[in-house]
Amino acid sequence: MSDSVAKVLINLSLDRTFDYRIPAELEGRIAPGAKVSVPFGKGDSPRSAFVVSVSPSSHRKDLKPILSLCGDKPMIPANLLKLGEWIASYYCCTREQAVRVLLPGAVRNGKIRTRTVPRCYLADPAAAAEYMGKATARTRARAEILKLLSVRGGQSPDALATAAGAGKSAVRALVKLGLIRVEEEKVLRDPLRGAKVQPTVPLDPTPDQAAALKKIREMADRADGPGTLLLHGITCSGKTEVYLQAIAHILERGMDAIVLVPEISLTPQTVSRFRGRFGDKVSVLHSGLTDGERYDEWMKVYNGDVRIAVGARSALFAPFRRLGLIIVDEEHENSYKQSEAPRYNARDVAVMRGRMEKALVILGSATPSLESWHNAESGKYELASMRTRSNPEIHLPAVRIVNMQMEKNEEDKTPFFSKMLIQAVHKRLADGDQTILFLNKRGFARQMLCEVCGFVATCPDCGVPYTYHRKTATLSCHLCGAALPAPETCPDCASPQIRYQGAGTERIEHQAHALFSSARIARMDSDTMTNPAQYEQVLTSFRRKEIDILIGTQMIAKGLDFPNVTLVGILNADMGLFLPDFRAQERTFQLLAQVAGRAGRGFAGGEVLIQTFNPFNPAIEHAANHDFLSFAQEELEVRRELDYPPFTRLCVLHFDGPDSAEVQAAAEALTGRLAGEAPEVEISPPSPAPVERIKGKYRFMALARGKNPSHFRSVLRAAVMDWRKTNRTVDFQADVDALNLL
Ligand code: ADP
Ligand code: ZN
Ligand code: ZN
Repeated sequence: MSDSVAKVLINLSLDRTFDYRIPAELEGRIAPGAKVSVPFGKGDSPRSAFVVSVSPSSHRKDLKPILSLCGDKPMIPANLLKLGEWIASYYCCTREQAVRVLLPGAVRNGKIRTRTVPRCYLADPAAAAEYMGKATARTRARAEILKLLSVRGGQSPDALATAAGAGKSAVRALVKLGLIRVEEEKVLRDPLRGAKVQPTVPLDPTPDQAAALKKIREMADRADGPGTLLLHGITCSGKTEVYLQAIAHILERGMDAIVLVPEISLTPQTVSRFRGRFGDKVSVLHSGLTDGERYDEWMKVYNGDVRIAVGARSALFAPFRRLGLIIVDEEHENSYKQSEAPRYNARDVAVMRGRMEKALVILGSATPSLESWHNAESGKYELASMRTRSNPEIHLPAVRIVNMQMEKNEEDKTPFFSKMLIQAVHKRLADGDQTILFLNKRGFARQMLCEVCGFVATCPDCGVPYTYHRKTATLSCHLCGAALPAPETCPDCASPQIRYQGAGTERIEHQAHALFSSARIARMDSDTMTNPAQYEQVLTSFRRKEIDILIGTQMIAKGLDFPNVTLVGILNADMGLFLPDFRAQERTFQLLAQVAGRAGRGFAGGEVLIQTFNPFNPAIEHAANHDFLSFAQEELEVRRELDYPPFTRLCVLHFDGPDSAEVQAAAEALTGRLAGEAPEVEISPPSPAPVERIKGKYRFMALARGKNPSHFRSVLRAAVMDWRKTNRTVDFQADVDALNLL
């Protein structure tokens, strides 16, 4: 006899499959993507596994059989399994890691089940009538239960008993007598807690929206694959309305849609815009759900009960089988990149899924990433631009740049707050208006900044600021490894007033209390906000005007739609600008543009103050002028010159461990090996990361750059897999298309 054989992945992170025999009773029912149970290890204890391929027959007699199959169709559709294989090879992770991201934990681990509740029905109406007819004082309660059920079936045993004034045993007795039948009915856990949403109808498109929609419909109709569209629309140009009408078009064609939004903007308001148009056709997937809710939401997609999935990063893997559209809103957001293995970027994987399944992909943003912008310019993506606001009544706020070089106090120190900003805040307090204060803060890296001329010490070869290391009093470039003694006077203007940057939200809050003693002040950053509920709570009380001044980091940029806010102050536009990261300009532009482009009817006539030591920096100037095109053009020139993405591909190699020398040695050995095997790729010598130590571990990093990195990726992937096989005290991770260089 020759049984079929299934190759399965067991969650062991070995990057290998195991062969199992498909027993006769499961023959023909096991397909790639199926979840099965197999005997494994000592004592052959059952483990769950995923089938990745099935081959018709084998003469191997030694194979153990698959024990059982979970569900009646594969948990992972074949198309997603293929996407998983691509993730494993592209992002250099194990295949098990890739499969893990395809399914939410709540579905994968099998501990959560569909929730059911018991419902009672009359089993035999004639017998029930007879029983009621013969009711005695002793059985009156039971008869009452039957009477209630004959009026309306489908009640729970408890509710019935209570309504009839009987004990629960009365219901049980009737079940035993065969008069009541109990059925288990499925109930869904509802992450929206039954919240009502206002239904909406499609709006008449503006000319910009109409043009974008025409292009979308035309692309969706292409038989050979629709491709990717970059939708560049300024804030309030009405991108969401375009998404909604694009989805409607796809639904009409009998296909399904996925909408990705950054986790932070996945608020009830965002969800209700989709629910308002499409009702229960929408499922919501994000990390704030309980396991049970996530299981149910996923199952709705899996069973075809919904047509649209809205969610954060992982919603990209919603198991639709006729996918027609993927929307990635705010496509430039870093949160689409997962920070642990597999370090995939959901935006890029969306483009790949779209290609594999012939689904249209729309990437939307007011400030597209330069990667996507470059792809649109080079014709790899198509472009639709929306440059006018959907409502012309909404005016842009006035943006002013405050030159902090002019703000010295008597002790020759520069304060956090400029005179102009202090005055502006006082005015808002007097008028009963609200203020938002931004602190541009990322990471902990410190740079040398001259307070007199704004000079920032920068590596001439890499174009990124040196990182200051206090212990050794040196400046070093973590991209090329160059190091020099930290200067005591400004190399540019010879002033001794050098500041090593680093002020947190906490200090700013402290200062704000001192300056504005009567104000009600709240702070919002990743230290004070540890879950989405807290975030909502602060925003709610801000909306209710219980807070005068809200201080925060990037986090508050998204929730900026407050009618009573008439002033936004950006305290230190420079800080983000001079991170040792070649994307620092781009990120600063994105943040400032988001703030400067902020509308909200109430903010009309409002004011944005940008405090900076570098008033002529292009990112700051162009953001203040709401001018993405000029920024992109200039910044892409710099990237081309210095050979950074999008003109090359970049991979960061991370090493960390408890012993600094050991980490360095291991990093040098590995980069040496990679350089030997992939000479076409440029690999920098490992150097201490700008954030040198995290949780007692010393961090080193190296950068690999190359134009055609596919050979390098296979070399790198082999190195990652080898590393896993040997137990070392130094951890090594590869970050393909890295966004975080700190
Ligand atoms: P964006 O996502 O581009 O910032 P939104 O989609 O949030 O913009 O739209 C901004 C506002 O304009 C919303 O209140 C929306 O209801 C409104 N809006 C969008 N399109 C139209 C339209 N065609 N006609 C009237 N109002 C519109
Ligand atoms: Zn350098
Ligand atoms: Zn200087």
